[in-house]
Amino acid sequence: MPDKFPCTKCGECCRHISLIPELSEFDDGTGACVHLKNNLCEIYDARPDICRVDVMYEKLFKSSFTREEFYELNLQSCKILRENKG
Ligand code: SF4
Ligand code: SF4
Repeated sequence: MPDKFPCTKCGECCRHISLIPELSEFDDGTGACVHLKNNLCEIYDARPDICRVDVMYEKLFKSSFTREEFYELNLQSCKILRENKG
């Protein structure tokens, strides 16, 4: 198992933030984050915790899932986002 979440940097999660209350101020009105530039996060080092899979695991989900299970659930969400693209 990787020791960090294996993000492919597709950017789909950052284009679908409208249902995430913690990111409501970042919504550009289309559901995409205002900080996504050229498919990369322009505030990556200062991005909120909700954007950090490993931080969220440690903070909220460690008692409910193994890290492997949590990565798998997140990867399933990534896949759904990519499949629904457009
Ligand atoms: S949808 Fe998943 S793989 Fe794509 S950028 Fe977001 S976290 Fe990474
Ligand atoms: S802050 Fe960065 S990582 Fe978080 S949704 Fe916006 S572009 Fe994506």
